Amino acid sequence: MRKYEIVVLGAGGVGKSALTVRFIKGEIPEHYNPTIEELYQQEIEVGGERISLDILDTAGAEQFTMLNEVYIRSGHGFLLVFSLTDEASFCNLDHIRQQIFRIKGDKSDIPIMIVGTKQDLYSERQVTRQTIQEYSARWGFGLYETSAKKNWHVQDVFEELTRDMRKR
Ligand code: GDP
Ligand code: MG
Repeated sequence: MRKYEIVVLGAGGVGKSALTVRFIKGEIPEHYNPTIEELYQQEIEVGGERISLDILDTAGAEQFTMLNEVYIRSGHGFLLVFSLTDEASFCNLDHIRQQIFRIKGDKSDIPIMIVGTKQDLYSERQVTRQTIQEYSARWGFGLYETSAKKNWHVQDVFEELTRDMRKR
């Protein structure tokens, strides 16, 4: 079975763990703990093939750590996660992108998906669809707006990233 490693990156509190745990366990965590970093394993079927995923849910360190550097080096695909309700968390993504490009070298060939979270919080939204679209189009990244709470597009995010990793 083919095996890929996905690294989930983004600022603290944006919903990286909720997204990951929703995908793995079908429910969201009851308690918010920003410091927990966890490696999950999950099988997924894409294009008629079963694939084994290692998913690393990083602890949202605002500062880029040496640890992130190690993870990026070994990762095959990346979820760049921000909250649709927090503009600063969106701006933060470009710093992460720069680090991935620096560490991975070849810019055109890295499976990266931009994931906006908390889509259910309509009235608190701060980042427009157009802003996200312009950014992801500029770099050729995939894009999803999600809600871990409502289970909107969570499975899609992981399937599409896996499809992308499989193509390369
Ligand atoms: P992380 O630090 O990026 O891992 O963020 P968490 O996954 O721990 O989530 C931070 C907070 O946002 C928690 O209180 C979650 O319940 C909440 N949260 C995460 N995803 C969603 C979502 O899709 N909708 C709403 N309304 N809240 C969410
Ligand atoms: Mg977390």
